[in-house]
Amino acid sequence: MKNRRNLQIYNSLSGKKEYFEPIHTDHVGMYVCGPTLYSEPHMGNMRTFINFDMIFRYFLYLEYSVKYVRNITDAGHITNSTGLEIDSIGRAARMEQMQSLEIVYKYNVKFQDLQRLYNLLPPSIEPTATSHIQEQIEIIEKIIENGYAYVVNESVYFDVQRYGKDYNYGILSGRKVDELDTETRALNAQDEKRFFADFALWKKANPDDMQIWRSPWGNGNPGWHIECTAMSTKYLGNHFDIHGGGMDLKFPHHEDEIAQSCGSVGCNPAKYWMHANMLNVNGQKMSKSLGNFFLPKEIIEGSTELFDKPYSADVLRFFMMQAHYRSNLDFTQDGLNASEKGYNRLVGAMKLLENLPTNSDTSFDVNELVTSFYTAMNDDFNTPILIANLFEGAKNINLINDGKATISAADRELLSREMNGFILQVLGLQPSPENTDSKLTPVMGLVLDLRQQARSNKDWNTSDKIRDGLAAAGVVVKDGKDGTTWS
Ligand SMILES: [Zn+2]
Repeated sequence: MKNRRNLQIYNSLSGKKEYFEPIHTDHVGMYVCGPTLYSEPHMGNMRTFINFDMIFRYFLYLEYSVKYVRNITDAGHITNSTGLEIDSIGRAARMEQMQSLEIVYKYNVKFQDLQRLYNLLPPSIEPTATSHIQEQIEIIEKIIENGYAYVVNESVYFDVQRYGKDYNYGILSGRKVDELDTETRALNAQDEKRFFADFALWKKANPDDMQIWRSPWGNGNPGWHIECTAMSTKYLGNHFDIHGGGMDLKFPHHEDEIAQSCGSVGCNPAKYWMHANMLNVNGQKMSKSLGNFFLPKEIIEGSTELFDKPYSADVLRFFMMQAHYRSNLDFTQDGLNASEKGYNRLVGAMKLLENLPTNSDTSFDVNELVTSFYTAMNDDFNTPILIANLFEGAKNINLINDGKATISAADRELLSREMNGFILQVLGLQPSPENTDSKLTPVMGLVLDLRQQARSNKDWNTSDKIRDGLAAAGVVVKDGKDGTTWS
């Protein structure tokens, strides 16, 4: 059994680190709010999903049985930070002249591609909001029955004031309803609501709505928050271990999820609430209006003007792991270049480890080093400290390789198992052969240039000799429309 006793998680609910004690021994139930598929997920969304993938992976590494549920929002009205409800999927569908589910399908294909590219493990299940309309209706009925929601003009609203008499609305975000700023109040003073902070559980259909369902209150569509309550409780039960999402979802989305669960079944849905932080680009919040916006694919293809060279998905993942999931992360050219160097150094050492010469004794404490990997991750998934400790391992590997330190066969086996485990399985890196040997890349560039020159001069003998020679060395050269590649 691996070292799982001391795992601590920062719980947004208590505002402090707490020892992780699963509700059911050896099992972890985790729900993370997934993407709303009306456009391509941006780098900030990807950072959240990559961080929860790392958390999922560490639980698996600790040999927990994990049920990881991450939904897909393909229906309903999205509520923005001021509480306004926007039909973003419908709006995108009208703009692109497609059906709502066509839009969702289009961007889901792109999202699944990104997941593979950035090496995210598939969650246990990815349920969609549109396949759980009945479950959402049933929870809304329960909330009405318990007196925490009311029906107006075929819409249903959550009664925040009534709820506040029995529960603490603001328990997660720390927001007090009467302290919400006047702008938010004014924007939300929709006349049919009894109180400006009340939120929609079910909205009466508008004439131009593209997605409409039947309900006991009339034709309409669900509010955004209720889908997560329906899907998390359906797959994980009324009370499960972890609920996660981006920091921007804490209020109102997660606060309202807690209210819906308390209002329907009388308990907070999750024991630990986890929030991953956002990202900056060159010191500023990433936004289209600031011109520092880029997509996760553009930085790999090198098609964004913000950076003067492309970076592999693996280097980008490593770069993100060098920041703690709760810290802000700043995308800068210097930071990315430093990460690329560090990545090559670490992966290079990992490769050396396989064939490292062994000795009768070890000149450093391998057990202590390996323990430090677990200690870092057990401290609220501290990946930057883990990486610093892995570099300590890399330093020792290089010393052994240079004959300046020694390792026994048993210690080499332990170090190899744990370094590979933490780099590949926990951090989720997947170094390709090109990445593992930084010296080979420029050499191959030179060889392929010479081959191209020979081809331009119609010197087929030389070009064939190069191709056959490379093939004999196990290198396959392919000429495609985007240029020559090798693997
Ligand atoms: Zn959610």
